Amino acid sequence: MTEQPRTIVVQPTTLCPMDCTYCYLLERHLKQEMTPLVATAIADGIGSSWEPVEVVWHGGEPLAVGVERFVELLAPFEPLRRAGRVRHKVQTGGGRPITDAWCDVFEQYDIGVGVSIDGPRTLNRHRVDRGGHPMFDRTVTGVETLKRRGIHFTVLAVVSQGGTRQAVQVLDFIRDLGTSWVGFNVEAKEGANVDGQTPSIEHARGFWRDTFEWCRDNPDLTVREVDNVLGFLGLASERRDADSKHDPIPTIGWNGDVVLLSPELLGVRSTIYSDFIAGNVLADDLPTILNRSDGLLYVQEFTAGLETCKQTCEFFAFCQGTQAGDRFFEHGTFTATETDHCRNSVQALVLALAELLRIEGTDDDPGADRAYGVAR
Ligand code: SF4
Repeated sequence: MTEQPRTIVVQPTTLCPMDCTYCYLLERHLKQEMTPLVATAIADGIGSSWEPVEVVWHGGEPLAVGVERFVELLAPFEPLRRAGRVRHKVQTGGGRPITDAWCDVFEQYDIGVGVSIDGPRTLNRHRVDRGGHPMFDRTVTGVETLKRRGIHFTVLAVVSQGGTRQAVQVLDFIRDLGTSWVGFNVEAKEGANVDGQTPSIEHARGFWRDTFEWCRDNPDLTVREVDNVLGFLGLASERRDADSKHDPIPTIGWNGDVVLLSPELLGVRSTIYSDFIAGNVLADDLPTILNRSDGLLYVQEFTAGLETCKQTCEFFAFCQGTQAGDRFFEHGTFTATETDHCRNSVQALVLALAELLRIEGTDDDPGADRAYGVAR
């Protein structure tokens, strides 16, 4: 792992008023809230030599903590934010209304806002409240508030089986929503989401192929995965082969517990892996917790799994091993290599682009590589 994180995920509350059918959070019905004491310990533990880090407030539903408490949690970070050493981001699922009061906070603390929505109404049937009622209209209302206030936002969208055949409709909707950046998470079995229907690699490949083609005609919307793979192909070949160390992505729960490598591991119970808890910020600062993380069984297993990936998988140079959590949720161990996630979000993505370049990158059409922004 890298010695310092680029991203820290912070859970202001476990509570989420929504009950999305694919949610991985086990304790989303419990109202457990972070105290300013824990937030202070996190801020105090941000290493003085670290590069600027992104602090992502992710829940539960982070807005469920309320404006007043959220401002109390931000306060300890203020000296760091003003010095340019942290930047905040909130990822909301729309489970609480985005009000003008929230917009005031986003503006005052320069908080990046991410909204979770899966595309047009029909593809949001998984996103429901505790009464089973769709959240779609409430989420769109929140987006309208952001737009009225001129607050830029990004989108995270889950791609379920049905969505893989509707890439164009999804992308048109997200573009028209008014964002310039979207990241897609192809549905996978994680945490509490053990019943989800994971798309096949053929369906995922079709989704990515349609996405590449759509992006060619719509350069104003950046799709994270397309950007990643084209950026990778644009690198010099020696850099493609280089090892890149994994961001430990410390995720800090409402009570100060820290898990590493995958936010989805927070709150998951496991005797063999000691619930994945690497420490608690009330007892040790983050650098101390990170420095001793090599002794954790799941970190050791993940490191071994990465080495196996490197030795055996043709996609490793681009992939670098993907998320630890997916290995555990699918195989019960971190030494496993291939997962539904890596098949659908890495392999299918690369194969879709290769297919398009093969079809279009003939001698008759030497401009096809350039059309996708690929430098060879
Ligand atoms: S695509 Fe899967 S098997 Fe291949 S390197 Fe990535 S995680 Fe490992």
